[in-house]
Amino acid sequence: MMEKENRAAAYLRHLPGVDELLHTPSIAAFLNEYPRAIVVEAARVVLEKQRATILSAGSIDLETLPESSLRSYFLQRLSQEVGQLVWRKNRPNLKKVINATGIILHTNLGRAPLSKAALEAVRMAGSGYCNLELDLNTGRRGSRGDLVEGLLTRLVPVEAALVVNNNAAAVLLALNTCARDKEVIVSRGQLVEIGGSFRMPEVMRQSGAILREVGATNRTYLDDYRAAITGQTALLLHVHTSNYKIVGFARETSLEELVSLGREYHLPVMSDYGSGCFVDLAFLGLNTEINVSGVVAAGVDVITFSGDKLLGGPQAGIILGKRDYLAKMKKNPLFRAIRSDKLTLAALEATLRLYSDLPEAWKEIPVLRMLQLKKEEIEEEAKKVIDALKPTLKDYARISLEPTYAQVGGGAMPATNIPSVAVVIQPFHISVREVAARLRNKEPAIIGRIQEDSLWLDLRTVQKEEIDLLIEALIEIQVDSL
Ligand SMILES: *Cc1c(COP(=O)(O)O)cnc(C)c1O
Repeated sequence: MMEKENRAAAYLRHLPGVDELLHTPSIAAFLNEYPRAIVVEAARVVLEKQRATILSAGSIDLETLPESSLRSYFLQRLSQEVGQLVWRKNRPNLKKVINATGIILHTNLGRAPLSKAALEAVRMAGSGYCNLELDLNTGRRGSRGDLVEGLLTRLVPVEAALVVNNNAAAVLLALNTCARDKEVIVSRGQLVEIGGSFRMPEVMRQSGAILREVGATNRTYLDDYRAAITGQTALLLHVHTSNYKIVGFARETSLEELVSLGREYHLPVMSDYGSGCFVDLAFLGLNTEINVSGVVAAGVDVITFSGDKLLGGPQAGIILGKRDYLAKMKKNPLFRAIRSDKLTLAALEATLRLYSDLPEAWKEIPVLRMLQLKKEEIEEEAKKVIDALKPTLKDYARISLEPTYAQVGGGAMPATNIPSVAVVIQPFHISVREVAARLRNKEPAIIGRIQEDSLWLDLRTVQKEEIDLLIEALIEIQVDSL
């Protein structure tokens, strides 16, 4: 038996070089598929790691191997590792995820999935040239806004429409255009933060408008607004408290009241509505939100909302309102910096077209489809998953079907729970965090919700065609653990 130092020296002696490793058949095959530099780099990393392991502890225990077979052993194992590393590093960073969180509009998971029509439009617009800014009737330069603005003013009774990159940009543009160096009055109860980077006071500062807070966190009256109006006032702003709800001893001024005050003082009223919704959700028992038409009917002058929240389209900021205000926004140089690209406009146009036939919209737009799913339909899918898992996972985890509540998310309807059904997995031998981590590393990745010692997979947000992938991945985590 070799002494420890001798053993390490022998290991090092038989460790192949980069070139030798690159000549193994499996790596040679990889070189046809991936750039040489990437494979060489991976070989270096793997060899360096192996060398360090040998030197640090001699902890690889190869005592049973005769010295004569060390080299072929290394070549075989390390070429495998190189292959894995190359494969892993060249996977796209943006991967498909199965959303089993039950949160329909999950900002971390990309918010709204697109409809088939929107996807088809994106493919068309991206795979060749398109008439983004060309009027095909006259042959003259056109405006990209024409692609969607007319559709918007047909769907909602407003004078004008404008589309930018996202709602944050829409708010910035509107404030900068209407209230730069002037005061904007907002209730203290509506100084929202949406996901860290969008905070109303900061957006206001960036826009050059001066924030004039009124009222208290829980109660603001119309007279608070009235008392704050001066010659410096440019705008009354209403912000939808998308991701929280003040309950109890609370009062907000209604949009109608604000509009009447605005009229009295000849001041425009704007609503940052957050999650724009074109349908009536009342019949689903989700009666806490008015839709875009409701906001318009209240008489506001400018309304802004996101394209990828309840609307179910691509990331976009949509501005609707009075012609004069929107025309000024269009002339603002800031508008050029935040304009939408052809892929967004393609997806948005296709999404908006679906809304011209509401039953079609309910059928085709994934967000609306998920919202209206009946609990019984979800239960059926959950039973299918459980029937498939129970026999294979019975020694591995307790699997059950549990009632749960899904959420709209995306800063829409914070206090609304939608009855749903979850497949709940309580592993016997490993931690629930380990199970969650393994599922995250699947392709597609699966994201659930950890609750105490169980993983909850809410099926309201899992598409029908993803169920088989989910079952397959869950069966595999058992094998992973062996
Ligand atoms: C979501 C939201 C925003 C930010 O919209 P983005 O499209 O993410 O930029 C701004 N204001 C409110 C009230 C929101 O709900």
